[in-house]
Amino acid sequence: MVKRTQLAERLEHVKQRIADACAKARRDAREVTLIAVTKTAAPEQIREIIQLGVGDLGESRVQVLTQRAAQVNEFFQRKSAFGEAGLPAHLRWHMIGRLQRNKVKPILPLVSLIHSVDSLRLAEEIDEQAQRIERRIGVLLQINPVEGPGGGERGGVAVGAAIHLAEQIDSMPHLQLTGLMAMAPIVADAEQARPYFARAREVFEEMKWHKIGGAHLRHLSMGMSGDFEAAIAEGATMVRIGTLLFGEAKEPI
Ligand SMILES: *Cc1c(COP(=O)(O)O)cnc(C)c1O
Repeated sequence: MVKRTQLAERLEHVKQRIADACAKARRDAREVTLIAVTKTAAPEQIREIIQLGVGDLGESRVQVLTQRAAQVNEFFQRKSAFGEAGLPAHLRWHMIGRLQRNKVKPILPLVSLIHSVDSLRLAEEIDEQAQRIERRIGVLLQINPVEGPGGGERGGVAVGAAIHLAEQIDSMPHLQLTGLMAMAPIVADAEQARPYFARAREVFEEMKWHKIGGAHLRHLSMGMSGDFEAAIAEGATMVRIGTLLFGEAKEPI
């Protein structure tokens, strides 16, 4: 029997924990997409996780995303052309980190979904650049569920301003708003993150009530290595997991 690699074992373990969290919340595990966050991954680990069937990859840094997407897409196409078994049906890159307006252009042709839209000016820039390449870009509105002082450094629009901004984004012809992204503060115990995810879910329900995004509104991107089970309990449809799969950073980032 072939010995499984450490990455294969970690992936199996994460998938099992996602399935357990879904069962506990009486949800279908197929509702939750695992996004493998490549921030701490070595290039060979990225190739390996694709061969293990993971087709959703997340990056938070524009330059790294651009470089890696070029290499990895080429690898994926080559393997697919050979009909290799076990590959995902699609490879999708998710931009999950803070995005400056002058960095929008290089990533647009590469990304499937931008999770970190949190201002009108950024949304307008994406809309404009998307028009130039004649694409409609999927975006999530990033909200900041941490109210009061100390909540600002992770990005995200304030909860009180979220609905208005969501309506504005929804009116842009080259953006497709498909949901929300939120990050909880770092907590010792994942259960402590739950109220923040619950808050994000409330905003999501409110957006639905206002019919923002129409039938496209279906994603709640929330939950990372330290708190994804709490996020699933509150309705996450995408979890963004890095260190549980790839380990800690190998080089300073
Ligand atoms: C790094 C990062 C993650 C993954 O974090 P881990 O704790 O390594 O799982 C998820 N989301 C965002 C926005 C990140 O920057």
